[in-house]
Amino acid sequence: MTTDAAPKPAARPSSLPVKPRIYSGIQPTGRPHLGNDLGAIRNYVALQDRYEAIYCIVDYHALTHVHDPEVLRRQTLEMAAALIALGLDPERCTVFVQSDRPEVTELCWLFNTVTPVGWLQRTPTYKEKRANQPDDVNHGLLTYPVLQAADIALPKASLVPIGKDQAPHLELSREIVRAFNARYGVTFPEPQAVYTEAPTVLGTDGVKKMGKSVGNTIEVLAEPDVIRKQVMSMVTDTQRIMRSDPGRPQVCNVCQMHRFFGDDYEEIWEGERTARTGCVDTKKLLAERIIAHYAPARETYRELMADPVRLRRILDEGAERIRPIVEATMTEVRERMGLR
Ligand code: ADP
Repeated sequence: MTTDAAPKPAARPSSLPVKPRIYSGIQPTGRPHLGNDLGAIRNYVALQDRYEAIYCIVDYHALTHVHDPEVLRRQTLEMAAALIALGLDPERCTVFVQSDRPEVTELCWLFNTVTPVGWLQRTPTYKEKRANQPDDVNHGLLTYPVLQAADIALPKASLVPIGKDQAPHLELSREIVRAFNARYGVTFPEPQAVYTEAPTVLGTDGVKKMGKSVGNTIEVLAEPDVIRKQVMSMVTDTQRIMRSDPGRPQVCNVCQMHRFFGDDYEEIWEGERTARTGCVDTKKLLAERIIAHYAPARETYRELMADPVRLRRILDEGAERIRPIVEATMTEVRERMGLR
């Protein structure tokens, strides 16, 4: 785990939690992939004992591109089951659904009033999303980072485990919080990013970041045959044409992924460099290792999905657990802004 070197906030908010609080959100859009797990979820799990950890399934965010109510409801439960299967323990951390604590939309509106439009228009992801869904450039896409700032500020979180792709958003959250603190007095900590050792996981194309919208994912909880197919489609060293050509493990995405599955990374590197092993061998091995690594999680996921009542109870308890935190923040914010 590495923490981004970030300047300390100018002053400490008076009502900060005693134990540092961490927060992270994940969209309920499809099953988690290797990028999600290696880039973020592994840190969620690792940090749940050291901090007061709050993890949120951000369904309000998903509404910017998921418009089918049944799909959203199902995917929200699927993501909850996946997070627990991958190691979140609802006894040791809080897992809740964003829309179960709608106060965040109020805070988002209040933050809108301290956020210059230019900050949002220049966000790279806004430009990207506009290009991805040109027929649906809804206002939610523009204001997405403000809602994200509100997500983090609502529980006064000071650390945010995320992948590197989220760095510009987190920077914006910091700026928004800073703008609020400057206008109304220091209320929120300026959140800092926490990265894993794999802050950017490349997709099966070996070029772009692995992401659901790109369709270059390896879904960690999928059936073994799906994982095999996804891994076998991975692009390796494009300059290695013949099996006997020496490879360049430093640019081979498959070799890089072996770092996280098994303890023989150096051997795999050497095998590829000296052409002792071919790309297909290395991919087959990787696929079997990924399947074996996630087998227990896949089983737990199945069990949880078969018991939606239990899942719903866990999420209700999570939303209840953070209620007093959220209410305290909102009372303070309304007072500072002159609303009551
Ligand atoms: P996606 O990008 O697939 O839609 P989300 O936006 O819901 O996934 O991301 C959830 C978390 O996973 C975020 O913290 C994000 O930074 C992290 N993440 C997503 N893709 C990657 C990746 N390829 N490498 C590292 N982290 C990633």
